[in-house]
Amino acid sequence: MVRLIVAALAAALAAVAGIVGYRTVTFAAPPPPAAPAIADPAAYSLDVGAAALNLSEAIRFRTISIADSAGDPAQFTQFQAWMQARYPAFHAAAKREIVGGLSLLYTWEGSDQGQPPLLLLAHQDVVPVPDDTRGAWSVDPFAGLIKSDAIWGRGAIDDKASLVALLEAAEFLAAQGRRPTRTILFAFGHDEEIGGGEGAQAIAAELVRRGVRAWFVLDEGMAALAEHPLTGGPASMIGIAEKGFATLRVRAVGQPGHSSMPPPQTAVSSLAQAVTRIHSMPIERGLEGGPALAMMRALSPQLPLTTRVAVSNEWLLGPLLQSRMADNRAALALMGTTVAPTMIDGGVRPNVLPGEAIAMINFRLHPRDTAEQVLARAREAVAGLEGVTVEWDEPPLDASPVSSTTSSSYALLAALSRAILPDAPVAPGLVVGGTDARHYSEAAENVYRFAPILVTDEDLKGLHGIDERLSTANFERMIRFYLGLMETGAMQ
Ligand SMILES: [Zn+2]
Repeated sequence: MVRLIVAALAAALAAVAGIVGYRTVTFAAPPPPAAPAIADPAAYSLDVGAAALNLSEAIRFRTISIADSAGDPAQFTQFQAWMQARYPAFHAAAKREIVGGLSLLYTWEGSDQGQPPLLLLAHQDVVPVPDDTRGAWSVDPFAGLIKSDAIWGRGAIDDKASLVALLEAAEFLAAQGRRPTRTILFAFGHDEEIGGGEGAQAIAAELVRRGVRAWFVLDEGMAALAEHPLTGGPASMIGIAEKGFATLRVRAVGQPGHSSMPPPQTAVSSLAQAVTRIHSMPIERGLEGGPALAMMRALSPQLPLTTRVAVSNEWLLGPLLQSRMADNRAALALMGTTVAPTMIDGGVRPNVLPGEAIAMINFRLHPRDTAEQVLARAREAVAGLEGVTVEWDEPPLDASPVSSTTSSSYALLAALSRAILPDAPVAPGLVVGGTDARHYSEAAENVYRFAPILVTDEDLKGLHGIDERLSTANFERMIRFYLGLMETGAMQ
């Protein structure tokens, strides 16, 4: 009998092993649905040198986001006048509106009003160059220098490259007398770096008011990575969602007084317990509910064999895969909400009991969690701690909806990416920062975040950092990609 059971078990195991092996061998990255025929982005005869000079001129406008003491509205109006002068054919063909004070909305009307428009985003504003980092730059950040086959300066990647490349592509087509069949909208916000509350939010609200529901939105947010952390090779990451942002303010009150005869808990000890409990409260993590599993599947041919076995057999090895990814901070951020205590404040002297102590805990919300649920869990976690209260420090932002990876628009972006960067497999990703795109969920069927450039870790350091620059080759990729996008997506 025992022998029979053992034999049956062995047979079952062999069958499972057979399935695992078969699935690993036969598992292929799911191809995007019906890859569309695209206009060949390599076919356009471009003057890349002239385009690079235009980007370098655009960088010279110090369009620092207007907040408190920083930013000068005149820099924006001068930049906008420059756009009109530099791109006359496009400006003759499209309608230009100013929204929210300094943001721009262009409508390049299509001949077929029945097709939902294409909505292309970029932002005019840049982050400042703080005085204490200015000396570390090897060039003047606002000179728009071209050297070593790159365009240098604040905004070279984030995000004047997108804005200028979109205008280059539109001007190229407009100058040839091309007109879209599908309307193309261009929305250039002026306050993305400080949340987009006046620009993108106002444009999106206006579009919704007009009854516009775009085919899809394309904004910055992700790009092709030269070295993807999971595969070590190139991968084009198309952001299909972005995480939410919320900060909890944890406050503990205590009996103020002298510290020589303290009560069992002081404001500081209560706060410490509260922070520890919230920091360690259970957070659901997993491959489902966001782009994680779809990303792993898309990259599976490039993954190391053991990971590939697990991805191909996620039905069986999902938990194993998940526990492997738990060692990796980037993977953890991809699979769930993150919790980061970031500030703590309380007390004035070592021998005085403070009346209150305060801590801030920053959450980046995964699409599966809402701010409301997280707050409820945090309150549960501190239940029973006397004098402790938790509330959002400012209104929380939930994660964006997750856009489709099986839509015709995703397939179009993927096909164009493969045409520009043939060595980079295309995979969906989750944006952990914030972009203007988050404001457009209501104004489009799908919202994608992708810049068609191949970036190294070195390039990424320049974003909001020092020596920001974009290679001329990458700038050319952007223009060709947008040309292919406008022609294939809106001119057929
Ligand atoms: Zn940006």
